[in-house]
Amino acid sequence: AKEVGRNNLQLFDAEMAAKVRAKLRRHEELRDAVARGEFVLHYQPEMNLKTGRIFAAESLLRWQHPERGLVAPADIIPLAEETGLIVPIGDWVLNEACRQNRAWQDEGLPPIVVSVNVSARQFRERNWVSRVAQALEESGLEARYLELELTESLIMQDVGAAIATMHELEALGVHLAIDDFGTGYSSLSALKSFPVRRLKIDQSFVQHVPGDADDMAITGAIISLAQKLQIEVIAEGVETQAQVDFLQASGCDDVQGYFVSRPVAPTEFVTLLAGL
Ligand code: C2E
Ligand code: CA
Ligand code: CA
Ligand code: CA
Repeated sequence: AKEVGRNNLQLFDAEMAAKVRAKLRRHEELRDAVARGEFVLHYQPEMNLKTGRIFAAESLLRWQHPERGLVAPADIIPLAEETGLIVPIGDWVLNEACRQNRAWQDEGLPPIVVSVNVSARQFRERNWVSRVAQALEESGLEARYLELELTESLIMQDVGAAIATMHELEALGVHLAIDDFGTGYSSLSALKSFPVRRLKIDQSFVQHVPGDADDMAITGAIISLAQKLQIEVIAEGVETQAQVDFLQASGCDDVQGYFVSRPVAPTEFVTLLAGL
């Protein structure tokens, strides 16, 4: 029995070692990707339900991998957060989104707001607010055309500090949105002290409307909460006309999702924006 135990242990060690090596390889690969600049941003339009116009876009990270092709955030962000590479990657995203948005304005396209997803680790960096200010200055983008998406869990990790940072960002003139709203556990009373312009209703609720009575109730409640607090509200993951009809009837301001468009490369986004 002792022999078997030892063999199992050796097998276990070998497996562990292989896992650790594989992980280290993935870390190195991501580090090289940062150095080589293998990231791109795709943009997903946000449409106002009253006017039918595209007034904003969310920037979404993609990794143009030399062999694997376009890699999605699910295979980048967790690893990036674990290794701290999310900080340089996040900086790149912020600067690139500002640069791109300003370039579109310079081309004479209708001005839009571009939003950037912010990770908790990035938000907690000591000089985060000045990095945002610097990205605006270097790109020449006016602050009101930049929106930062923060999740409830990011805010709730240290509410006091987060609210202070949010006020500093607001003072710069950038817009703030709460992403994936309804999935975290920010208290409703805390919500009124957040200087946010928008709530983004998580797609998990939107997915099953108008079929599911519970999700209809939750989505409807978030919309009326936002209205009462005078915060704009957008539904994410909108794929069908039936969802649009329900959201419109419920008083939702804006929609984002495959119904309008999938996230697309910048060149393709230009044709959407120009209404071509
Ligand atoms: P998110 O911020 O909630 O972004 C929305 C996600 O939903 C995107 O996935 C988008 O492609 C997808 N989506 C949009 N419309 C629909 C729809 O109609 N149906 C369905 N089923 N899905 C839809 P994506 O691009 O894979 O991004 C996943 C997540 O990765 C994002 O969720 C965000 O949390 C994170 N992420 C993306 N880019 C960045 C980034 O630059 N920085 C950070 N920190 N996180 C990012
Ligand atoms: Ca988002
Ligand atoms: Ca979201
Ligand atoms: Ca999400």
